[in-house]
Amino acid sequence: MSGKLIITCALTGAGTTKAQNPNVPVTAAEIAADVVAVAKAGAAVAHIHVRDEAGVNTMDTNIFVGVVEAVREAVKKAGVDVVLNLTTSGSKFSDEWRIGHLPILKPEMCSYDPGTMNWANSFVFLNSPAFLEKLGHASQELEIKPECEIFDGGMIGNVDYYVKKGVLKNPLHYQFVLGVPGGMPGNIDSLAYLLPKIQPGSTWSITGIGRSSMPMMLAGLSAGCDGLRVGLEDNINLSKGVLATNVQLVEQAIGLAKAAGREIATAAEAREILGLKKHI
Ligand code: ZN
Repeated sequence: MSGKLIITCALTGAGTTKAQNPNVPVTAAEIAADVVAVAKAGAAVAHIHVRDEAGVNTMDTNIFVGVVEAVREAVKKAGVDVVLNLTTSGSKFSDEWRIGHLPILKPEMCSYDPGTMNWANSFVFLNSPAFLEKLGHASQELEIKPECEIFDGGMIGNVDYYVKKGVLKNPLHYQFVLGVPGGMPGNIDSLAYLLPKIQPGSTWSITGIGRSSMPMMLAGLSAGCDGLRVGLEDNINLSKGVLATNVQLVEQAIGLAKAAGREIATAAEAREILGLKKHI
């Protein structure tokens, strides 16, 4: 497509700890402040996970509501605009919790992980067929755009299956999340395999985990991506041995995009490119 480029910041994630990088936003106040900061830096989309009081990943609806309310208040107060993309991942939680925040919070986007894999050889990243059907239908009813996060080769075919079945509806948006051990590696071969298989008329973005962040951004720009995703969920370093902030990662991505001749989409432009519906 190669219009304006959408920068997504994945601020927190499920696994990154403050011990690894103290800049990871964990509390509602920290996440809200970081969303404002990355929006000011040029991110059009903020991808959000939440943590419990111990800093551990949770899909507790009450915590999600608290965080998103804090984010919306901070964004309003700062006079910035950003699209919220809420996660639905969380293998150890019930389907109800993984979907329950969506009708209450009505974000413009949510994640949709179309398959199961062994995550970094440590746990089962579980997305059952029943869950994927429920989530797909819920996203259509609520008019929340699902972001199809592709971690592994089989997931690209599953998207086609769910489109055929009416669980997902075109035009779709894909996020290639490459370099998770157990999924496809963060290299150009993975992108070359996946890219020709997306649904016609779709948009796509890319992120590489850890060391593959930079190469995947460069590969994405070379292949004409619609978006780049960065953030401490995916990568804690600005360069080798230098811990990053979310803002620095956004600024780095914008620098690369501009060097590649791409203009950066505002949140309003991202809504147009992705066909989003603003509910709140
Ligand atoms: Zn995520």
